[in-house]
Formats: sequence, C-alpha cells, structure tokens
Amino acid sequence: MKIYFRILQYAPGYAARILKFFIYAILGVVFSAGYLALTMPMLKVLFNDSVVNASVPPLPETFELSKTVAEQTFNHYFIGFVQQYGPHNTLLVICVGIVVLIIIGNTLRYLERLTASRIKVDVVKNMRMDIFSKVSSLDIGYFNNQRKGDLMSRFTNDMSEVEGSVANSLKSVLKEPITLIVYLTVLFTISYKLTLFTLILLPVTGGLVAEIIKRLKRKAKQSQESMGRIVNILDETFGGMRVIKAFNARNFILKKIDDETSYHRKVNLSIARKNELSSPLSEVLGVIIVAIILYYGGNLVLGGSGELEPQEFMGFLVFYASMIQPAKNFSNGITSLQKGTVAADRIFRIIDTEPAIKNKEGAIVLSEFKDCIEFRQVSFTYGTDPVLKNINLKIERGKTVALVGPSGGGKSTLADLVPRFYDPTQGAVLLDGIGLPEYDIESLRRLMGVVTQESILFNDSIFNNIAFGMEHVKEEDVIHAARVANAHDFIMQTEHGYQTYIGDRGSKLSGGQRQRLAIARAVLKNPPILILDEATSALDSESERLVQDALTNLMKNRTSIVIAHRLSTIQHADEIVVLQDGHIVERGTHAVLVQQNGLYKKLSEIQKA
Ligand code: ADP
Repeated sequence: MKIYFRILQYAPGYAARILKFFIYAILGVVFSAGYLALTMPMLKVLFNDSVVNASVPPLPETFELSKTVAEQTFNHYFIGFVQQYGPHNTLLVICVGIVVLIIIGNTLRYLERLTASRIKVDVVKNMRMDIFSKVSSLDIGYFNNQRKGDLMSRFTNDMSEVEGSVANSLKSVLKEPITLIVYLTVLFTISYKLTLFTLILLPVTGGLVAEIIKRLKRKAKQSQESMGRIVNILDETFGGMRVIKAFNARNFILKKIDDETSYHRKVNLSIARKNELSSPLSEVLGVIIVAIILYYGGNLVLGGSGELEPQEFMGFLVFYASMIQPAKNFSNGITSLQKGTVAADRIFRIIDTEPAIKNKEGAIVLSEFKDCIEFRQVSFTYGTDPVLKNINLKIERGKTVALVGPSGGGKSTLADLVPRFYDPTQGAVLLDGIGLPEYDIESLRRLMGVVTQESILFNDSIFNNIAFGMEHVKEEDVIHAARVANAHDFIMQTEHGYQTYIGDRGSKLSGGQRQRLAIARAVLKNPPILILDEATSALDSESERLVQDALTNLMKNRTSIVIAHRLSTIQHADEIVVLQDGHIVERGTHAVLVQQNGLYKKLSEIQKA
C-alpha cells in the first residue's frame, strides 16, 4: 500500500483528486441504484391492481431511517400519484425518471473515469521523467550492457504495468466496493433473509472459478516461457544457418525445435481445456445459484406473509445480477494492483539508487585549467581484479600524452578517470594540485572534450549534433567548428546542409564523417583538455587522413590525452606511455622508446610489417 501511495504522489494534488473521484463514484452508484430501484414501483403498477384501487395510506407519524418508514412515505406519495394521474401516466413518469437517473449516473461515471485517467496520465508522465532524470544522473559504472536491457524493460514494460494498474485499481479496487456496499445494503433492505442465503452460496462458486483461473495463469506463464525458448531457437537457427548447413546439423536443430514445440502444444492444450471449461462452468454454476435463489425467494413470495412481495423479489434479482460485474472487476483489480506494485517496486529501486559519483557539499567550481593533471599511485578495479596498478603520471598543460599498449591494458580506464566517469579505487587524480572529488563535476567536465572511437551521435540535425549540450549557439561558430574538423564540405553536400537529419546514431553517415562531426563538436566546445580514445582506429586510410588532420587542428594549444592503436599517429606526442596489464611498462618520447628496444618498438614493428 505504501508503494501504491508513492505511485499516486506522482499526480500533483492527488489527495484532492482522489476525493473528487470518490465523490463522483459514490454519487454515480447512488444514481445507478436509484434507477434500478425504480423498476420495483414500475412492476407494482403493472402487476398489482390494488395500487389503483387502494386508499392512499397516511404518512408515517415519526421520522426515522427504516425500511417501513421509507416504504410508507414512498407509498403515500406513489399511490396518491397513481390515483390522481392514472397508471399510464405513472408508467410514463417512471420511465422518464429511469432515463433521467441513468443520464445523471452515467455523466458522473464519465467524470469519475476521467478523473482516474487524468491521475493515470500524470503519474505515468511524471514517473517517466523521474526515472529518466534519475538514471541520467547515475555514474557511468552503472551502465554496463546487461543493465541497458534491464533499464529499457523497466522504462517500457514495468511502466505500462504501472499505467494499467493505476487506472484499474482506482476504478475497481477503490470504486467497486462502494458499488457492492450500496447494492448489498439495498438487497438487505429488500430481504435480509434472502440476502444472507445468497451470501452463503457465493463463496462456493466463487472459489471454484478462482481455482480454475489460478491454474490457468500458471499454465499461461509456462506457455510464454516456452514461446520465448522457441523464438531463441529460431534466432539461433537463422543466425547460424551457415554453420548448421556446414556441419549437417539440420536434424539436430529439428529435434530441438520439435521437443520445444511439442511441449508448447501440451501446455496450450491444457490451457485450452481449462479456458474452454471456465465459461460454461461458471454459467452453469451461476444459473444453479439463480435457480436456488428463485426457488427460495419464490417460496417466500408464495408464502403470502407479505415478507417478500413479487416486485421486491424482481428488484432483488435485478440488483443481484447487477452486482456480478462489479465483483468481477474488484477481483481483477486486486490482481492488477498487485502486478502494478511489483513493477513499481522495480522502478523505485532505480529511482532510489544513489549515484556513486556525486558533488560533495561546497565543491569548488572550476573555471580554468592552469597547470597539470596528476595521477598519484592510482589503482582501479571494476570488480575483483585490478585493471590499473599503482599508476603515477603527470600531464602538463599544453602537452600531448599518448597511451599505447596491448588491448585490455587499461588505457580507456585510465582516460575515464580524468572526467571522473569513475573514481580510483586507491590513490588520487589531481587537477592543479587538488583532488578531483573537491571540484564541482559539471565544471570539471566543462573543461574537457571527449572524442571516442565510436562517435556518439543522436538522431537529430547535423547542426544540433555539433552544438550538442550547448545553448544559444551561433550558426557561424558551428560552421567554423565544422571547417576546423574537415567536415564543412561533406555537410554542404548533404541534402539540407546543416539541417540534414543523420538518422539513428548517425547511420546515414560514413564512419569518417561521423568521426569528424564528433570532432567538430569538441572544437565548438573549445575545451582546454582533450581526451581522444582511439579516434581514428576504425577508419580507412583516406578518412583517417581527413580525421587525423582534423584532430591535429583540434589539438593545437590544448592538453591532450590520446589513446592510439596506430602508433604512427602519435609519434609527435610529448610523452608516450606504454600500458600493459595495468602497469606503465615504458615511457618517453618516440625516439627514446625506439632506442629502448622494448614493447613499444616491438608493437610499432608489427604495425609496420
Ligand atoms: P584498453 O583501453 O587498454 O583496451 P580497458 O581500459 O578498456 O583497456 O580495459 C582494461 C580491463 O578492464 C580489461 O580487462 C577489460 O575487460 C576491463 N573492463 C573494461 N571496462 C569494464 C567494465 N565496465 N566492467 C568490468 N570490466 C571492465
């Protein structure tokens, strides 16, 4: 329930709105009950001569809330009316009354549902925004590949579960009990004996139907899981067709899919048996109950003691029949509420996650980079094995430091420590002599530009991709940045120039073009510190030359950390640091390292060959 209220809090002013919902719901039920109740006097007029001939009974002498007093008052006015205007006119008035009541009742129902739906759409919108804002504030370490799918699923599946549940629970779990209570009260007023008798019968049939439904659900889950496995096999098969054919494994795969589809068939047959049974069974049970009520109630009427009059009995049946749907809604609502709160719990667990990297209080807002970046005895581990071991490195302002070495050596991880995507497990990274955690994270990152191997572009115009994250950017500045990045010419050749949309992740552009856009973005940001992570490694030599020129332009007068695969691109770096298994194994200029005749020399010879 706590979770449910937390969900509702996403709708602004939810308390007042739920109160409004309740008021509409209660009034709506009362009006619907009123219309159903009008069937009783109608039957009385149709079937009972005594109303026309009887003398008008007097008004009750004392006023109290009881069935007899209500009946006497009603009879006084009703019989008076019939005798004055005749049964035909009375019938007309009753019919008009029914129509009026049903119009009012349904208008209220509309308002009630609208209120519920408004609460729902507000909850969904605000909750989505909350997840998104929360998730985007989490540290990079949170987003590994496995989590991405999970996050997507929470954003879509869990959210739609919550969406369905909010509206459903308001309509069914909160409202239907009101309907049931009002209708039950009417039933008790008509005949408490018959009502009690009916109430004893209900759990018997209800229990039976509920049991069937429970078993159905279990089977439905098995069926879905089996379907998931079938899709998996299909996916594997179509993806691996070459291997399957080359290894003559068709029979093997056929057997695999035959086993699974046979299982799926068995489960579905079992579902069908129960499914097809449930509706006829509940109809038979329902009719048996009605027959028993008819027999029992009919006997009360026939007893002639005035305990139950025919029109009252008919009214009873009408109310009884009108209760079945609300009762069903209520039980469905409970299930949907449970599902919704489980989904919401999963969502709240994300929302409640504290980012591992956040601003400390009174963090220093950085405005410029003056002196140097220093790694002091830095070690880092993602899980258990250390990825960086006792790194000491100083990068002075205006210098270019290249990180090279075999893949998996820890180069990207080292670079990620500078914009504080991660914090070192041991040791410290300092900027101008002060530890990075002392700085305001945003101001720290404002000093840095990052260009990675996989340029991260968004499905937007070229202009907006270059100006990404910046406000009030002038067109000439964007064009200038594109020129520096060797991108202006190809941009002008696209259909709408700077306003061309580049597709999902920039899919309409070539690798080199994407890379140059990413570089233009860094040029426009004009940061004093640059981090280039294998920025040219995925390109053919023509694009590489264009991108390399762009990078050389970009690196002028800046401090750069360059991760390079192709050693030819970093020969002019001020310092080359060779990383292997998390250690710095060699360092120095190109000339020095070549002379040392170590790992660097070996790597560059392999590349030349
Ligand atoms: P390089 O850039 O030199 O190729 P990385 O810094 O990418 O090396 O990786 C160093 C080591 O850390 C590798 O063994 C890699 O598997 C591991 N690693 C990288 N990123 C993660 C991560 N997000 N979670 C766990 N391990 C990681």
